[in-house]
Amino acid sequence: MIKLEESKMMKAIEKARREKPFVRVVGWRQYEVTNKKTGATYSVGFDVRDGQRFASCSCAAGQAGRFVCYHVAACAGAHVCIAATRTSGGASCIAA
Ligand SMILES: [Zn+2]
Repeated sequence: MIKLEESKMMKAIEKARREKPFVRVVGWRQYEVTNKKTGATYSVGFDVRDGQRFASCSCAAGQAGRFVCYHVAACAGAHVCIAATRTSGGASCIAA
């Protein structure tokens, strides 16, 4: 599990914006991220413990848990949006 901290996510967020991976909602706090170039798909999950946010990703960087990978950053952006607009299912967030 990787602890989500804004300051440590900047690089990953930038990369997510560049790569624009395809994010699919699997369930509440569960996502799948597909790299459009390679077609590789990774599973991303979020968890909240003691008021702190954590994430996990099935990619090599995510498994090592040393830093926030861009898969997590891509989902985190969608997740915050979905959590804020849960009534609409967050569909408009994913498209954006
Ligand atoms: Zn990852």
